[in-house]
Amino acid sequence: MADAPFDVAKIRQDFPILQQKIYDDKPLTYLDNAATSQKPQLVIDALVEYYSRYNANVHRALHYLGEQATSRYEGVREKVASFIGAASPESILFTRGTTESVNLVAYTWAQERIQEGDEIIATGMEHHSNLVPWQLCAERTGAKLKLIPVFADGTLDLFALRGMLSDRTRLVTVTHMSNVLGTVNDVAEIVRLARGMGAAVLVDAAQSVPHMPVNMKELDVDFLAFSGHKCCGPTGVGVLAVKPEQFEHMPPFMGGGEMISRVKDLQSTWADVPYKFEAGTPNIADVIALGVALDYLSGVGMEKIQAYEKQLTEYLIQQLQSIQGLRIFGYAKERGGAVSFALDKVHPHDLSQYVDQQGIAIRAGHLCAQPLMRRLGVTAVSRASVYFYNTTEEIDRLKESIVKAQQFFDHG
Ligand SMILES: *Cc1c(COP(=O)(O)O)cnc(C)c1O
Repeated sequence: MADAPFDVAKIRQDFPILQQKIYDDKPLTYLDNAATSQKPQLVIDALVEYYSRYNANVHRALHYLGEQATSRYEGVREKVASFIGAASPESILFTRGTTESVNLVAYTWAQERIQEGDEIIATGMEHHSNLVPWQLCAERTGAKLKLIPVFADGTLDLFALRGMLSDRTRLVTVTHMSNVLGTVNDVAEIVRLARGMGAAVLVDAAQSVPHMPVNMKELDVDFLAFSGHKCCGPTGVGVLAVKPEQFEHMPPFMGGGEMISRVKDLQSTWADVPYKFEAGTPNIADVIALGVALDYLSGVGMEKIQAYEKQLTEYLIQQLQSIQGLRIFGYAKERGGAVSFALDKVHPHDLSQYVDQQGIAIRAGHLCAQPLMRRLGVTAVSRASVYFYNTTEEIDRLKESIVKAQQFFDHG
């Protein structure tokens, strides 16, 4: 059906997990990519290779293994910077994931830049990871948190944002692509509006970096966060990219080894960035494997991935729309491949359990976005989310299974 700009069958061969049958004879149909992506063999091999050939601590060890590990680890900073168009390798901080990246900004930059009476603006469609840290920050600092409203079609009310911005606005934080609605937000316009008031902008790119070309310099944002595990990399590693001038307003996050320059009994001075923000032994193996994952994605081509997923998403939406009693949440024109829906008379959890029996993995629940669920008037939804290794045949399988589930629960 879809006209892929690459050989999908060949790509699928790179992912060992996709080769297996589950429940004895069901081919695995993995449509939960917004939760985490699968990993190509190259990435898995990179982890094994690190531990079996050059495991050593980075930066301090002046021996063969230490130098190997350090140069591979530091090399990933360059790869990440060029992959997302960040200012420099030094502007890339390794964290545990998007969640930690957002918290880093909320605890360091915010500590200097946000005071009582200031305002933080987020949106009504944020993942808990880019909402709760700002609720805590607002509590700590006495700042006020406001949320940009979401229209029924799943887009942001940027007209309302104009009214919300003031000279007390210090930060506007927004998800680049919603993990629930699929909406790709107009970050460029949000940046333009925020800059007009002198506010900084943080982009939660957890769903965009894996699925489309992202260029931090073009977007002109101050902070960009994403997770390795959603873009073919391992769990436990993520990135915070910082616009260099913002480092001036960032005291250390965690204290410990690696992040210091000189330590005296009662006070210390800090290492230069990025090391100032990477206390302790870093997640060496996973950072190196993330580099391999980004090389793999570049090899396939982010533009091609985006183009193919656009076709897959259109097909998915079309197939879901053809099911009676199924309602899709989010109809933004600019969107990615996370599609949430509800089925009349079938609870999302029942549906996901039913399709799971046919080997199909979709997600059900509040999708880490309880405030958005309330706006949608539901407590849970089902979500199918595609990646570049998915096929239209898999979407057909999902549709067939949903229709069967509907009959089963209607009569059962
Ligand atoms: C997954 C996700 C996060 C959280 O990522 P972690 O890897 O769990 O830290 C944040 N925002 C969005 C939009 C996400 O999809």
